[in-house]
Amino acid sequence: MTASELASGLSAWPPIRPELAGIEPYGAPQLDVPVQLNVNENPYRPSAACVADIAAAVSEAAVTLNRYPDREFTALRTALADYLSRDAPVTPEMVWAANGSNEVMLQLLQAFGGPGRTVVSFAPTYSMYPEYARDTLTEWVAGTREEDFSLDLGKARALVEEVRPSVVLLPSPNNPTGTALPPEAVGVLCEAVGQDGIVVVDEAYGEFRRAGVPSALESLASHRNLVVTRTMSKAFAGAGLRLGYFAADPAIADAVRVVRLPYHLSSVTQAAALAALRHAPELLAKVDELRAERDRTVGWLRDNGLEAADSDANYVLFGRFADRHAVWQGLLDRGVLIRETGPEGWLRVSVGTPSEMAAFEGALTDVMAGPMAEVVER
Ligand SMILES: *Cc1c(COP(=O)(O)O)cnc(C)c1O
Repeated sequence: MTASELASGLSAWPPIRPELAGIEPYGAPQLDVPVQLNVNENPYRPSAACVADIAAAVSEAAVTLNRYPDREFTALRTALADYLSRDAPVTPEMVWAANGSNEVMLQLLQAFGGPGRTVVSFAPTYSMYPEYARDTLTEWVAGTREEDFSLDLGKARALVEEVRPSVVLLPSPNNPTGTALPPEAVGVLCEAVGQDGIVVVDEAYGEFRRAGVPSALESLASHRNLVVTRTMSKAFAGAGLRLGYFAADPAIADAVRVVRLPYHLSSVTQAAALAALRHAPELLAKVDELRAERDRTVGWLRDNGLEAADSDANYVLFGRFADRHAVWQGLLDRGVLIRETGPEGWLRVSVGTPSEMAAFEGALTDVMAGPMAEVVER
């Protein structure tokens, strides 16, 4: 068939799976604006000492780039286990890692989902989850959260007992709302799922949780069907590194090994991640500053007549606006990029440096003084 025959619509091109035809790839706009508060990155760059250490480690790894990397990334697993053991005892055999926790979760769906199997989550939640389900031919079932974005555990358990999912995906704190799971949630859901499935608690923002909020890592010893994922993209200021990981029963890590691509973690990634982990204390010191800035931002939004969801993460969901797109655009016109996501009327802002937050607050004050920012009354 010639190109013009194709263009005239005799047949769809390319011959992609029909359910993928015409679908826009996931992605927040990557725009070059002065204040970028849209993808929950850490606004603080790694220190000069950390950069130097990463550079030295990568340069050493480069000497043997003719060889494939350590397929089992033993040194990195050990370092990640040590790091997680601040929250609960974790051994290297319990740890798995891949290129971002998105890849980790896709691998979990490849191993534990699939045709005839179901994955359950609770909306509003992370927009990538239904994509992992689609890409692994797993059925997607979304329950709902309450008005205040909390999870009603009775309803959640009932849904799990009805659907019998192979995988439950639960972010804590939830994206985009910032809501952490209540302490009893992990036990209730692990028991409801039972032997037939796994419960994945996505703690991408776990390090930002407020004092007194437990990590699901503490429940690993009592639930062998629990998987807790983390990432170096947010608290560790390593979004560009692409390193995500989980801790679980060693049998779950072994199962994922079956579906991973050969040598999926490059020598360069392993070396850079190991070097960054050596700087954990200094990287995490910034987390406390960001938590304080987040709490201040929630207060500022509420003082200015807006609703702001309680947040255990490094972002705040706020609103509600009659026309949220107009508010988003108004901020962008003033050099501040945030995220148009979440339920109708809400917007999400990532927590940046104090000067970036001052720019956000100035721009929002300006937009709200204009005609485009009607606030929906509670
Ligand atoms: C940012 C984020 C991740 C992390 O993704 P990486 O692939 O590790 O960069 C995971 N889950 C949620 C809910 C996120 O918002």
